[in-house]
Amino acid sequence: MRLRIANGTLVTGRGLVRGDVECRDGTIERVGETGADRVDEQIDARGLLVFPGFLDPHVHSRDPGLTHKEDFAHSTRAAAAGGVTTLCEMPNAIPPVSSANILVERAAQHTRVAHVDFGLWGQALGQENLAEIAGMFRAGAVGVKLFWGYALHRQTGMLVYNLSDEPAANLIPPPSNGEVLELCREVARVGGLLAAHCEDRGVIDAAERRLERPISTYAELLDLRPATAESVSIAVAAELSAATGCRFHVVHTASQSGVRTLRRVQADGVRLTAETCPHYLAFSAADFAELGVMMKVYPPIRNEVDQSALWDAVRDGTITSIGSDHAPHTVEEKSHDLASAPAGVHGVETLGTVMVDAMLNGNITPERLAWVLSEGTARLYGLHPRKGAIQTGADADFTLVDPEATTTVDSSRLHSKQPQSPWHGRRLRGAIKMTMLRGEVIARDGEPLGQPRGRFVPAVHG
Ligand SMILES: [Zn+2]
Repeated sequence: MRLRIANGTLVTGRGLVRGDVECRDGTIERVGETGADRVDEQIDARGLLVFPGFLDPHVHSRDPGLTHKEDFAHSTRAAAAGGVTTLCEMPNAIPPVSSANILVERAAQHTRVAHVDFGLWGQALGQENLAEIAGMFRAGAVGVKLFWGYALHRQTGMLVYNLSDEPAANLIPPPSNGEVLELCREVARVGGLLAAHCEDRGVIDAAERRLERPISTYAELLDLRPATAESVSIAVAAELSAATGCRFHVVHTASQSGVRTLRRVQADGVRLTAETCPHYLAFSAADFAELGVMMKVYPPIRNEVDQSALWDAVRDGTITSIGSDHAPHTVEEKSHDLASAPAGVHGVETLGTVMVDAMLNGNITPERLAWVLSEGTARLYGLHPRKGAIQTGADADFTLVDPEATTTVDSSRLHSKQPQSPWHGRRLRGAIKMTMLRGEVIARDGEPLGQPRGRFVPAVHG
């Protein structure tokens, strides 16, 4: 099967170039020359930007476990519709991916329903599964995730938000810095990648004691999880990384002080990388009046100074990757009050559209977008050059963008199990015209096509 994508503008981390791409059996064979050879199928990309398929490294599909909120079939259809060709699934399902055996099992289970290719995260349970870290990387984990500062339920592995709700015997308490140091040492030893939720538990606990009652306003939510919680945690991460040589990735960076700390430790040569999410780049506390509980996430969406610091960090390379942190809840759950509604927002389907809009509004160049949504992410997680590259030998994954079109986000047309979106009703510049996975069109104009044919992509680190 030979395919040509003709007359498009190819966008990579190195620049824009007019040209064709020829593919054979799902792999890129030639780039740039307009060949006259006969092909089986030609896609005319005139007027379109051809990106290497977008990656979303941060997706919680709740599968198996809380599949009334979302499942892998739905999240991967949503991904395809939104231009994402590879997603990395977070490990905190029930049971969590805490061993090599579970990882292998999970890969097989997800392959049956996946509409896009996927990588898998392993989960760090402190001392409980230190001996499993090496095995999970051997089995192809993209990284090991530490839900830093959270206690875990001993039987289900689920995060426990309220410690007083559970008898102590049922809890794996939040790991001490010493335990995280040991984890870093082990991840460094096997050449892996450790990623963490960075909000310091002690700082949040102190804020909670000061407030003394459940929050009722968005300002109180911000007081409860102050930016200092993030920067303190990042500073500790830097020390642990420096002491061990562990590659440490800060997920969902949300604050100006977090960015400042990242920049400082990176300048010191510490191997710390960082992610942010579209909701931190698109919204600020001022949007709460319109969006309400829909925009409750941890860490919280902060103020405009934080938003602009995050944009600077995306542009100057302090932040190397953007993920959606797709973490759906039911419409009913998200209709609770601010104190009791769960934190988490939909995002895998809107990730590409929102970032393309930002590009067309001048917040980010096309090259930089190709880096943070494709190449940079693929490199970080050991998926490059099979993913994130328009070059000979790479998988023929593409996201075709029409810069002249517009997209109005309509949550009733999204493909998650519980379709809702903080972008509902927003008119965004640009449109994801087509998503191609290993040479086949898997979505067109926001609609997924064909049977599930996604595969597990084992990461290769080092
Ligand atoms: Zn997350």
